[in-house]
Amino acid sequence: MSTYDLAVVGGGPGGLAAAMYAAMRGMSVVAFEAETFGGQLTTLYPSKPVTNFPAQAHILSGDLALRLAEQAASFGAELREWEPVEHVAPSADGFVLRSAGRETTASALVLALGHGRFVPRRLALDREDWFLGRGLTCRLPPIEQIDVRRAVVVGGGDTAFDTALSLQQVADVTLVHRRDEFSAYAHSRRRASEAGLEVITGGEVVELLGGDHLEAVVVALADGRTVELPADLLLAPSGRSRT
Ligand SMILES: Cc1cc2nc3c(=O)[nH]c(=O)nc-3n(C[C@H](O)[C@H](O)[C@H](O)COP(=O)(O)OP(=O)(O)OC[C@H]3O[C@@H](n4cnc5c(N)ncnc54)[C@H](O)[C@@H]3O)c2cc1C
Repeated sequence: MSTYDLAVVGGGPGGLAAAMYAAMRGMSVVAFEAETFGGQLTTLYPSKPVTNFPAQAHILSGDLALRLAEQAASFGAELREWEPVEHVAPSADGFVLRSAGRETTASALVLALGHGRFVPRRLALDREDWFLGRGLTCRLPPIEQIDVRRAVVVGGGDTAFDTALSLQQVADVTLVHRRDEFSAYAHSRRRASEAGLEVITGGEVVELLGGDHLEAVVVALADGRTVELPADLLLAPSGRSRT
C-alpha cells in the first residue's frame, strides 16, 4: 500500500492547484482524477479560449489544463489519471482511499470534486436518447471540428454565454433561457450584445425535431406560444454533479 502526506481527489484546476502548492512545500502528494486532468476544462470545453486566468489574457482551456498538470507534476506530485476514487475511510493515521482495485493511505485529504464526475444532464424530452450525439450534446466540441449552420444553446450563465459566443464563430446561434434574468457576468452579457447574439428569454426547449439528425427544436414561450428554431446542434446545460 502506498502512503502519502496528502491525497487530492479531483484533478480540475482546484485539485491541481492544491497538489502543486502542497508538493511545492515538500509534501508527498498523490492526485486522483476520474477522467483526464483539467476537470471541466478538458471534459466539457477543451478548445474554448479562457480569458480570465490571471496573467493569461487568452489561452485555450485544454492548454491551460495541461500547464496546470505539468506544473503540479514538476514539483513532484504524482498524478493518476482515469483513476476514480471509489471509497474513502478515516484510519488511525489519516485516510485510506480505494481506487482501481488498490488502496492508498494519506495523512491529509483534499476533496476538489468541483462539478463531480461528468454525467450528461437530461432534458426529459422525447427522442432525447436518439439525438444524443446526433446534434444534441452537453460538451462543446472543438470549434474547428464543428460543421453546423444553426445552433441553439440552453442556459443563462457564463457557461452558456461563453459556449454561444464560441459557436458564433462558425454558426448562427440562439441562446434560450427560461428566466428573464441571467446569472452570467455583465462582461459576458456585454460581449453577447456586442456580438449580436440572438437571445430568447422565458423560453424552454420542449421538443426535438429531425430524422437521422437534429434539424430543429421547439421552444415554448412564457406567453404560451411556441416557436420552431432550425438547429443542427443543441447544446444542453453542461452536466450534472455525481461523485
Ligand atoms: C463550457 C464552460 C466554460 C467555462 N469557461 C470558464 C472560463 O472561461 N473561465 C472560468 O474561470 N471558468 C470557466 N468555467 C468554469 C470552470 O471550468 C470551473 O469553475 C472549474 O473547472 C472548477 O474547477 P474545480 O477544480 O473546482 O472542479 P472541476 O473542474 O469540476 O473538476 C473536478 C474534477 O473532479 C473529478 N472527480 C470527481 N469525483 C471524483 C472521484 N471520485 N475520483 C476522482 N476524480 C473525481 C472530476 O472528474 C473532475 O475532473 C467554464 C465552465 C464550463 C462548463
